[in-house]
Amino acid sequence: MTDHRRKKAGAAGENGTSSLQPKPVVTDEEPQFINLRPKSLAEYIGQPEVVETLSIAIEAARQRKEPLDHILFHAPPGLGKTTLAHIIAQEMGVNITVTSGPALEKGGDLLGILTHLEDGDILFIDEIHRLPRVVEEFLYPAMEDFAVDFIFDKGVHARSHRYRLARFVLIGATTRAGLLSAPLRERFGIFRDLDFYSEDELVRIAKRSASLLNIQINTDGAYEIARRSRGTPRIVNRLLKRVRDFAQVRGDGTIRKKTVQEALELEGVDEKGLTMLDRKFLKAIIDFYRGGPAGIEAIAATLQEESDTLVDVVEPYLLKVGFLTRTSAGRKVTEKAYRHFGLPVQQGLFKKPKP
Ligand code: ADP
Repeated sequence: MTDHRRKKAGAAGENGTSSLQPKPVVTDEEPQFINLRPKSLAEYIGQPEVVETLSIAIEAARQRKEPLDHILFHAPPGLGKTTLAHIIAQEMGVNITVTSGPALEKGGDLLGILTHLEDGDILFIDEIHRLPRVVEEFLYPAMEDFAVDFIFDKGVHARSHRYRLARFVLIGATTRAGLLSAPLRERFGIFRDLDFYSEDELVRIAKRSASLLNIQINTDGAYEIARRSRGTPRIVNRLLKRVRDFAQVRGDGTIRKKTVQEALELEGVDEKGLTMLDRKFLKAIIDFYRGGPAGIEAIAATLQEESDTLVDVVEPYLLKVGFLTRTSAGRKVTEKAYRHFGLPVQQGLFKKPKP
């Protein structure tokens, strides 16, 4: 939490109105990664189209001395949505307040935050698709007219009060754009998808993080980490730290290809970057549903996992690398996945139906 935000939170606490206390503001969940976040668009690796869209929007808003349009980022976890929100705040020279959809339970929670924002300030709502409906409805006039109508009490005692807000900028992040209601989606001026990162981009991220953390890594080692990171910068950073421990205790401290292979075998991360959960997911479809199609709820029940975790965390990368397909009848494991596991491809299973 920045000093500025701490000051604001304190001020709200003192006025004694519980509905105005901005308690749902959450701090970054991964403080150890804060110093690994790129601080400017120039430092940001990958996503060239998104970076260009943002730099044009930022430059134009700066020239006009106006706040930015509201921005929505859609991507699987760990691809850089939060990082971009912080960079935008940095580049615009404004404060950022961070919260998340599930943390905002009531309209009052949101109001408490909105009334403490100043002109141009950024409100970042992570997992915005999980905002409760009542809170979402508060957001519509806030985003469009920079005002909210707050109703006190119920029935005959009901009173309404219109709060004028500063011209804030909402940045929403979601792993499931499809779950956002159309009225909310339409209120964002800029809507960008982030894609998985290429191997070369992940190598640059691994080398950058290694240098910030003072870790010795050679190019082969960086490539091996990149190949096993499921196209995701957050995983690069996580694996880098695990392999660093291994290199320090079992090796000479430098991360090489072999160190990565040995360390990650212990972690259950295979040469394609699949984790235990990825493999369990694919194996469940193969073993219990003859390769599919199988419905996501049925697979989740078999694995005793939340279907949301499977849809948000597991599936996007398996779809991307072609180990899984999604059909109207359900999820199907591909021939490529059978081969990855060294399993015989069942005769006829992957033949195209005759027209
Ligand atoms: P998300 O909000 O999409 O879940 P984050 O923005 O929290 O993802 O990113 C996860 C981590 O990955 C961050 O801590 C940051 O260090 C790193 N990261 C993300 N994008 C990049 C990038 N383009 N270059 C370097 N590091 C990145």
